[in-house]
Amino acid sequence: MSLRILTAVRVFHLGKEQRHLVDAMQANAERAYRREIIQAAQCFRNFPTTDRMFMDQLFRIVGVLNTNAFEAPCRSGGHETLLRGLFPLTAIMNHECTPNASHYFENGRLAVVRAARDIPKGGEITTTYTKILWGNLTRNIFLKMTKHFACDCVRCNDNTENGTYLSALFCREQGCRGLVIPVQTRTLQPDWRCITCEIVFPHAKMAKYQDFALNTINNRINSCSVQDMIHFINELCPRFCPSSNYVLIEAKLNVIWRMTRFDHEEYTPEEMGHMDRYREEVQLATKITGLRLTNKLKIATM
Ligand SMILES: [Zn+2]
Ligand SMILES: [Zn+2]
Repeated sequence: MSLRILTAVRVFHLGKEQRHLVDAMQANAERAYRREIIQAAQCFRNFPTTDRMFMDQLFRIVGVLNTNAFEAPCRSGGHETLLRGLFPLTAIMNHECTPNASHYFENGRLAVVRAARDIPKGGEITTTYTKILWGNLTRNIFLKMTKHFACDCVRCNDNTENGTYLSALFCREQGCRGLVIPVQTRTLQPDWRCITCEIVFPHAKMAKYQDFALNTINNRINSCSVQDMIHFINELCPRFCPSSNYVLIEAKLNVIWRMTRFDHEEYTPEEMGHMDRYREEVQLATKITGLRLTNKLKIATM
């Protein structure tokens, strides 16, 4: 936090026009952050924490950044780092779970917005504030926590997620390996029902299994080689996570991304075969969700 606060402090040094722009941007009031900001500020000598006017402006700027900032990847000296920055025109776009545009960043400085499908003249250009392949519940928890709204679009109101079953988990009833999906939409704590044996499970129980899958799979993504990851996805994941679950789809996407991005590594025909299969699964999930490919997905699925 003490380093992140520097981004906010830099706003005080912007030119007049740019500062006006920042002041005009929306800031979700997040009083919970205030104590954290003061603690971070106290790490610096002579930080004017007792200057009320200055601190009020700082709180607002932190709010503007939390509401609008993007993390843009930037390459320097062979390393990739994430820059946090304000891109006002890009930030102005509204959210849709099946957006008609996607955006990416060129070397941390330029935001590029591209139509993902035909947009009628005068039509609204929309983007997504979440990861596009996250399941309904995960997207809505994220939107509620960070953007303070609930989405009520067609995708969010379909508990099969157009047949993709991106949120599905395995049934916990003995002898049943059916898929369990949230029953109600428009709530962050739905009941879950098995589509095979129809048993209903409370949300708290299924949330625990979802967290387990998320943590287990993400820990591997962060620590395993591509080869180990393929073995893990093929041999171990099917024991605890349905292949349609978004965490597993994202893990497959990560493997494709790593295998296509760095061409200095050699892969066996068998490994390439697994990658092709993952690619088909990711393509199917995006197609039936009605999504067009974002830049990263496009590279990964070409
Ligand atoms: Zn939605
Ligand atoms: Zn069942």
